Amino acid sequence: MLSSLALGLQMGLTTALPMPAATVALGTMSQQDVARYTQTIEDQGGWWLELDDRLLVAAPATAWTELVDGERVLDDLGWIKPDDLALQARGCAIHPSAPLPAIARAGRYTLVRAPATLLPYRLPEVSEWRPVVPNRSIAQDWRARGLIDRAKRAANPDVQQRVDAVDRDRWFGVLSHLATYDRSSRRSGIANARDWLLGEFGNLGLQTSTYAFPMTGSVAVPQVNVIGTLTGTSLPDEWIIVGAHYDSIQTNGASGAAAPGAEDNASGCAAVLEMAEVFTRFPPKRTMVFTCFSGEEQGLIGSTRWVEDALRPNGHLPKIKLALIMDMIGYSQNTQLDVLLETSSALSTVFPQFQNAVADYATELVPHTSTNPFGSDHMPFIEYDVPSLLVIEYDYDLYPGYHKTNDVPGTISNALAMGGGVLKMNAAVLTEAAGYDANAMFGDGFE
Ligand SMILES: [Zn+2]
Repeated sequence: MLSSLALGLQMGLTTALPMPAATVALGTMSQQDVARYTQTIEDQGGWWLELDDRLLVAAPATAWTELVDGERVLDDLGWIKPDDLALQARGCAIHPSAPLPAIARAGRYTLVRAPATLLPYRLPEVSEWRPVVPNRSIAQDWRARGLIDRAKRAANPDVQQRVDAVDRDRWFGVLSHLATYDRSSRRSGIANARDWLLGEFGNLGLQTSTYAFPMTGSVAVPQVNVIGTLTGTSLPDEWIIVGAHYDSIQTNGASGAAAPGAEDNASGCAAVLEMAEVFTRFPPKRTMVFTCFSGEEQGLIGSTRWVEDALRPNGHLPKIKLALIMDMIGYSQNTQLDVLLETSSALSTVFPQFQNAVADYATELVPHTSTNPFGSDHMPFIEYDVPSLLVIEYDYDLYPGYHKTNDVPGTISNALAMGGGVLKMNAAVLTEAAGYDANAMFGDGFE
């Protein structure tokens, strides 16, 4: 987290001063045109933020007409400076009863006005908000920016074969079964889910193991990550992690009520199993490590302990070429299947793999990207610069069962379309990342 002094220095004197600002609609403006526009804004002494479908433009009064005239203005924001704004996490607000005035939704954040008097938003240790650094893309809509059309190539038959092996009905069946276990880390019922997952990995022929770790705070029951390893055929010391948490939480019912966690996160955990189903039939060159984490809802404890106490001291982190994490992948509020791909800006070099996968194998998805990561099992990997990305539905904060006792399969609208699209995208990404022998027409797994 940057200190406010460092931030002020980074902004320079000009953008530290208030200037007129507005949000303008980007519509279908191409990425090249957005880049040209934002460069002109900077050249004229202004600053900008890309916020998915819109751009915040702040410009000196003298340059205002030239920069904003002719653009479709959505909101006149008055005179502001970056320090007047903050990014507030959606779905886990500090004061959900008194949300700050929202300017735009972007990634898993809402851009809000954050008056200096509102102290919680000024504390660096409060991870639910981030300061605004000007001239950044907070979230990007790939399809509207023309980046999906540009990534389109001829489908590769080897990749297509793995994508076609995905079975979304099987995935939903596993999701529904997992939701029958009360998987709260606070009680012992989660052990049954752990044993079932271990059995499934074993049935697929994976090498199974567990990683036990202590829970912190008031949670007394020690927890276990469940791991199934598929050793690579020719590059076994290069790893691809496919992970999701299997623990669940409910915050609306009595303390003894079950937490079915169908969407959060049986959906992701079932997708880990579905990827294991696909790739055990088409053995990859690199080693795939399928991992179901526990203790996520209490602060990413299972993934953090595994990365820091097992992978790092044993020298495994440099082996990891990609850690693909899924958390809430099956819900869409409507038939537009918006999905969010999230990593850090330093690791955004993983984005093109997903761009190509959507363009060629999962065209039903509408991908949005964010480089302000937080709050799921991709974080411990990102902390150590391991290429890692979180896949999460863009509508997650609108999900009616979020952290509730009604997070059951029937609450997940559009599940087969949404989850099916995510599974196809991820199968394509993982095929390329894990490596394959080009033998689509003659491979053993052809069916
Ligand atoms: Zn979750």
